[in-house]
Amino acid sequence: MQKPPLGTLLGRAFRLRCPRCGMGKLFRSFFRMHERCESCDLKYERAPGYFLGSIYINYGLTAMSTTIAYVMLHFGKNIPNKELMPYLIGFCVIFPTLFYRYARALWISLDSFFDTQEFWSDES
Ligand SMILES: [Zn+2]
Repeated sequence: MQKPPLGTLLGRAFRLRCPRCGMGKLFRSFFRMHERCESCDLKYERAPGYFLGSIYINYGLTAMSTTIAYVMLHFGKNIPNKELMPYLIGFCVIFPTLFYRYARALWISLDSFFDTQEFWSDES
């Protein structure tokens, strides 16, 4: 199987589809993943704790967004901390929950891009 370009892999991640074939769905419910791709039989969780790396993506994006929002609103618009904190704390809870599936999809897509051996061989 030929490895597609990074843009295609990222597109599949944002559609929550299998990085290898782009057809099978990654998730069967909001938080639960399929074990294997229903189309190409790729095993999604390659090892125990495989998706731990997706937490770095989710945390990094949440922390970066919160920091940028804080700096812009506190220092740019002079909004006091007392008014800003409830919204930023709410964002820090809601955003990673909603982005959870996309962080996992991005993780497996990026892994398939950089680790070419197992994803693109015919055995999965
Ligand atoms: Zn597939």
